[in-house]
Amino acid sequence: MHRLRFAVAILVSPTCLVSQTPSAPAPRILIKAGRLIDGRADQAQANMGILIEGQRIRAVGPLAQIQAQAGGARVLDLSQMTVLPGLIDTHTHLLLQGDSTSDAYDPQLLYQSIPYRAILAARNARLSLEHGFTALRDVETEGAMYADVDVKRAVNRGEVPGPRIFASTRAMAPTGMYPILSPNWELELPHGVQPVDGVDGARLAVRQQVSHGADWIKYYADRRYYFTADSTLRSWVNFTDDEAKAIVDETHRLGRRVAAHAIGADGIAAALRAGVNSIEHGDGMTDSLMTVMIRQNVAWVPTVTVIHYVGGPRGGIWKPMIAYQRAAFQRALKRGVRIVLGTDAGGFPWTEINQAKEFEYYVQYGMSPMQAIKSGTSLAAELLGQQDNFGSIAPGLFADIVAVAGDPLQDITELQRVKFVMKGGTVYFSQ
Ligand SMILES: [Zn+2]
Repeated sequence: MHRLRFAVAILVSPTCLVSQTPSAPAPRILIKAGRLIDGRADQAQANMGILIEGQRIRAVGPLAQIQAQAGGARVLDLSQMTVLPGLIDTHTHLLLQGDSTSDAYDPQLLYQSIPYRAILAARNARLSLEHGFTALRDVETEGAMYADVDVKRAVNRGEVPGPRIFASTRAMAPTGMYPILSPNWELELPHGVQPVDGVDGARLAVRQQVSHGADWIKYYADRRYYFTADSTLRSWVNFTDDEAKAIVDETHRLGRRVAAHAIGADGIAAALRAGVNSIEHGDGMTDSLMTVMIRQNVAWVPTVTVIHYVGGPRGGIWKPMIAYQRAAFQRALKRGVRIVLGTDAGGFPWTEINQAKEFEYYVQYGMSPMQAIKSGTSLAAELLGQQDNFGSIAPGLFADIVAVAGDPLQDITELQRVKFVMKGGTVYFSQ
């Protein structure tokens, strides 16, 4: 994952040049944290100090000790708050504004230009940052080509405020297996993905997407979900095993990781056979698939918020899927499957639901508040291969830090009311 880390270092350098000229020392900030949840420890700690130099954290410890080495650092007093690492959502669509049914999805691809959609994406990036999310894995643009890479570039250059973005560009599905589909063969309609066929086509598509800036590759492992009489959630598999393995192999060869949309047991099994790094949604997770998830160290990104949002409008199978997934989640938690927070923001409108709702669902589904926080901070950073850059509050990491007024270990909904957001040592939001 050297390539990713290297990319981050390069992309943040323009800010370094502005804030850290050779003659002037990097600005120092001392944060007084009333209560600190650092993203790794199992307990919160009271009265802590965080010393920041430039974009990174220099020291963390008991306040008196850190204060003694802070010199003339500017003081940010969060002594009445709980301080946490910046939140991370590993499943978003910045270029999408809700996808409850095709009535919501199709018009965005048919009647909105990609520049217009990119403007909304920049708005979404700001909203997300203000809600405390300092990093996103954005898992495809839904027909907006490589515009996620442009939004990322604008954020990294400081043109617009937003989280650190890990972009997947167009995603992949075979011909005819992803909307927009129409019986009118005279129309050439826009596709929500890059149509990809054959082993050579798969390798070419990965190379094209990486050459246009993809940090991750996303593909759709399945479609057409159904329950069988024995209560298994099954699906039709999209790619042949040879095609899926070619996608994964080429992606890994180019130093990137793969996320697979897989809802039914058949799709999850196919994605695991191909060797993906994360299963997205995974509603049909079975006990035997959990065993493979653990053995292959694959992350499960359950996107609970979106299924509650689409369950009503879509009707049919989508409603019973909610309870089915909840039961699977509880078994996976007991088994020790690595569950990493992802919401599918964009599948629901960014302006209507705060992504941090996902933490609340995880606690309802049986995680402790601390487990939920780790799944949306340190575990998410590990999935991104970025644990040495962010995801916890520790010396050497970027100063990606948020604060809430109350105690999220008592009331996890506190994370939906973030009062302070810092990314890379810069304060973006303070209430
Ligand atoms: Zn999604």
